[in-house]
Amino acid sequence: MAQVVKRAYKYRFYPTPGQAAELARTFGCARMVYNKALEERTRAYTLEGRKVSYVESSAALTEWKRTDDLAFLNEVSSVPLQQALRHLQAAFANFFARRAGYPTFKSRKKSRASAEYTRSAFKYRDGALRLAKMDGPLNIVWSRPLPEGAEPSTVTVSRDAAGRWFVSLLCQDAIRPLDPTLNTVGVDAGITALATLSTGEKIVNPRHERADRRELAKAQRALARKEKGSANRQKAKLKVARVYARICDRRRDFLNKITTRLVRENQTVVIEDLTVRNMVKNHKLARAISDASWREMRFMLEYKTAWYGRELVVVDRWFPSSKLCSACGTVRDRMPLNVRTWECACGAAHDRDVNAAKNILAAGLAER
Ligand SMILES: [Zn+2]
Repeated sequence: MAQVVKRAYKYRFYPTPGQAAELARTFGCARMVYNKALEERTRAYTLEGRKVSYVESSAALTEWKRTDDLAFLNEVSSVPLQQALRHLQAAFANFFARRAGYPTFKSRKKSRASAEYTRSAFKYRDGALRLAKMDGPLNIVWSRPLPEGAEPSTVTVSRDAAGRWFVSLLCQDAIRPLDPTLNTVGVDAGITALATLSTGEKIVNPRHERADRRELAKAQRALARKEKGSANRQKAKLKVARVYARICDRRRDFLNKITTRLVRENQTVVIEDLTVRNMVKNHKLARAISDASWREMRFMLEYKTAWYGRELVVVDRWFPSSKLCSACGTVRDRMPLNVRTWECACGAAHDRDVNAAKNILAAGLAER
């Protein structure tokens, strides 16, 4: 039986100068509304111990729009401003449920610029998407088709640090679960190899990445030499952002292929919980990229296993996956990082990562 899921389809688009200006204004207003509402909620929470609801924030927004100082908020579509308040509401819900830290202000420089439009604020017909207060449809590059008869329920417009514009359409989609299989697999996270499977297979980093990373390092060095506030520095900054965006795009493609394959081939996929390790700040580029990849890979595995009637098991991060012999179960005292292969007293010869992946699989199947 097919399952109906929500799925986002993301495309690049090229706004007209008028659309770009209108969107930039909308991003700015949405960010301002978010920050102002956050400030107000923080004041109420810290001074009065009171939680402010979405309805109250929304009423405050109406008041702000009536003042001379903030009358300009009326010039953009009201929907992205309401959506900013909904996002703030969700951030607080996560905070109160202890799923996330206290919400932080959005900064013009550091936060992704975006605006969200719901049904009443856009029109989609015959491949043409028109946003409220915008002249003409967006010039979208349809790199893959929307599913037949798809009706987007939400449209998110964003601009990344490299200056590229994207539109993401959230659609309902029918997905047919895959036929059941008896295969299971354990996956070990790595840095040199992106992942090692319990089958012994090593998934290496995408082909272009080494060259891309070299180019990124070069662009970063060039940026460091430029004088602060100069036009050349701005240019160098954009160059860094472009190379970085390319690395991320290629990564995402690659991760999508791997995760689809893992989910297709296996009934159960077992991975390690690396969230805590990931929170440790690490300035080494290779490590930062591999950590980001892991978060993304886990996220993809989560929704793809759910879509296709498969199972994802996440084992505890304190599990001694690399110190344990997968053949006899003996746990070694220590296993320095530079030891890539080792032999256990029981006679089993191990590749460090394959052994870890086998242990992760066994732990995951036991935990089920
Ligand atoms: Zn052994």
